[in-house]
Amino acid sequence: MKKTSSEYMEQTEEYVLHTYNRFPVVMEKGEGVHLYDVDGKEYLDFAAGIAVFALGYKNEDYNQALKDQVDKVIHTSNLYYHAPLAEAAKKVVEATGMSKVFFTNSGTEAIEGAIKVARKYAWLKDGSNDHEIIAMQHSFHGRSLGALAVTGNAHYQEPFKPLIGGIKFAQYNDLESVKAQITEKTCAIILETVQGEGGIYPAKAEFLKGIRALCDEKDILLILDEIQCGMGRTGSMFAYQQYGVMPDVVTVAKALGCGIPVGAFVLNEKTAKHSLVAGDHGTTYGGNPLACAAVSTVFDLFEKNKIVEHVKEVTPYLEKKLDELVEKYDCFTARRGKGFMQGLVVAGRPVSEITSKALENGLLVISAGSDVLRLVPPLVITEKDIDEMIEKLEKSL
Ligand SMILES: *Cc1c(COP(=O)(O)O)cnc(C)c1O
Repeated sequence: MKKTSSEYMEQTEEYVLHTYNRFPVVMEKGEGVHLYDVDGKEYLDFAAGIAVFALGYKNEDYNQALKDQVDKVIHTSNLYYHAPLAEAAKKVVEATGMSKVFFTNSGTEAIEGAIKVARKYAWLKDGSNDHEIIAMQHSFHGRSLGALAVTGNAHYQEPFKPLIGGIKFAQYNDLESVKAQITEKTCAIILETVQGEGGIYPAKAEFLKGIRALCDEKDILLILDEIQCGMGRTGSMFAYQQYGVMPDVVTVAKALGCGIPVGAFVLNEKTAKHSLVAGDHGTTYGGNPLACAAVSTVFDLFEKNKIVEHVKEVTPYLEKKLDELVEKYDCFTARRGKGFMQGLVVAGRPVSEITSKALENGLLVISAGSDVLRLVPPLVITEKDIDEMIEKLEKSL
């Protein structure tokens, strides 16, 4: 028998480890850009499961492709070849402009893989075990110990030390501070092309280009984390493509499978040739037939529905509407972002006050950093959805 929403919430809190302060709502189903709770209330979703559900909910082509794969085979292990892996890998490699991919089950695992690639690459050169990685303040790369070690957030790190060693931090968008951390031991620099959890900060072009030049000069690997900003969100398939900068390793997850848990680290030819070999890395689930069918279908549907073009086309309208809010309300002091990855800086009240009120008004928005209201909607939103979002948001102030 169906339970009430408070019964589901109580049961969840009774049995699930409390590592999340959840919004007081029990979601049941989704359609297009809307989610519905167990009482049938509709929510306009400008969070998309944290930048995951790019295609919108209940996309028929996507659902059908997954159902077909479920009926064929869900899992085989990586001891065998299968068609979805071959197809998904080709699409990821071509879309990123890289050379080889390794599929993981999550973003944090993609980061773990990228770190192992960097260490192996450096180890092959000099055989030593004391290489360093430079990461950025206010970055977010995940919760496993390696990814946490490169996450520039003392609050997340402190209770779990010692993390992996050899990590140094620099200031994002400050090339001099990166230079100051470089030694002969530096094997990689890792950063998000657009910082997400830290508060929606796009990299400045001079910064990213400067880092690429530094890496080239000293044979340091550039790892770009596009787990949140990749997959069309910023108006190009990957954000680095707007900078004319290529990474040596790129990490992808969130929208990669549009809801099926899957991530990837993708290597250029140099790193693919001089890093991980058979036996160096593995995963039982990673890149299984169901996950790869999802990835493959996502790329097909991005092309069929011209998702990236759509983001590019609608972005000016979204930015204009958000800029009007900044103009009109004292509680918003600035807008930052790229494409459908936008943040409004909130002053004078906690962001959670706005996100909670928005929920009551049928709008899902989330926070980033300590004072940023984050908008990461499905990539299929229209101008009409944006108008509805603005109306609901204004009502929530
Ligand atoms: C979400 C995120 C991660 C971690 O991904 P999980 O799938 O939650 O492990 C890493 N990097 C960035 C930039 C992210 O936004």
